[in-house]
Amino acid sequence: MKHITIVGGGLAGTLCALFLARRGYEVDVFESRTDVRRSPTDYGRSINLALSCRGITGLNAVNLMDEVSQIIVPMRARAIHDVDGEVKYQPFGRHDEEYINAISRTELNALLLNKAEQFSAIHLHFEKKLLSVDIHNKKLYFEARDGSAYEYSYHRLIGADGAASSIRECLKQEGLVQTEREFLSHGYKELSISKSHTAGMAREHLHLWPRDSFMLLGNPNPDDSITGSLFLANEGRDSFAELNTDSRLISFFKREFPDICKAMPNLVKEFFTNPTGHLSTVKCAPWYYRD
Ligand SMILES: Cc1cc2nc3c(=O)[nH]c(=O)nc-3n(C[C@H](O)[C@H](O)[C@H](O)COP(=O)(O)OP(=O)(O)OC[C@H]3O[C@@H](n4cnc5c(N)ncnc54)[C@H](O)[C@@H]3O)c2cc1C
Repeated sequence: MKHITIVGGGLAGTLCALFLARRGYEVDVFESRTDVRRSPTDYGRSINLALSCRGITGLNAVNLMDEVSQIIVPMRARAIHDVDGEVKYQPFGRHDEEYINAISRTELNALLLNKAEQFSAIHLHFEKKLLSVDIHNKKLYFEARDGSAYEYSYHRLIGADGAASSIRECLKQEGLVQTEREFLSHGYKELSISKSHTAGMAREHLHLWPRDSFMLLGNPNPDDSITGSLFLANEGRDSFAELNTDSRLISFFKREFPDICKAMPNLVKEFFTNPTGHLSTVKCAPWYYRD
């Protein structure tokens, strides 16, 4: 049987495994994290995704949309919150059936993993972190969670190990691809917006608090709470570096987002505890080696 190895069991890796298994491939998926279904915390990354036509097409193709539609929240329009509290609404499409959907990244990943487990040809290996690749001898070197080393020979390899891909880095070191990763001057941080304060806010909307050089974005959750993502400069005026005390943070939020401040009772704790996510542009050419 044809055999493919995928490194990275995130959204792309698991969906890719499902497509390959349907085409008759035997697939091994190696993931550095613990299985998200057992340890769902996903620190440092965007908790929600907006799922649109492209994602739905992929999920439909692997017969997953019935399960996915149970956990999505339609976002029929943008609700744009001005600094003076006025809200403007902008539909995403021209017709009622044109909208995007908020979905928990972890729950979507869990559904994809559940589906993958239904295929005897897909083998999931968690807590295996890829350390290096011997491209010429087709060998992968992993570290398991207990620190032990694990060596694995592959036939064909797909790197689905995210923006900081080890496989891409290895190909670069071998001089087989040219890559560039440029970090943006802004980062992001997840902040929760409590459901007990969202009663007056439009349901089934993507909430946005756009300001000159930064933005708060709110994705609706099925329980009516909202997951906020603050996009802010890393350095300079109104930046993560500048908001380094409780009082600076609170006065910044009261000034810029007065209508939502009271709905963020855990703001200070979350701001100083949750990691700041990086944003980057990755270029890689070619994005394959041989076949
Ligand atoms: C703030 C933000 C908001 C976003 N919003 C949206 C949105 O609304 N809609 C949308 O469609 N997209 C959105 N995206 C983009 C989306 O997150 C990515 O396109 C998607 O996550 C890519 O999936 P992936 O599986 O390629 O990578 P990832 O989701 O990063 O998964 C990579 C996997 O590989 C594993 N891994 C990494 N290194 C190793 C290693 N060395 N060994 C083994 N495993 C490893 C990781 O643990 C992870 O599970 C957003 C991204 C960000 C940062």
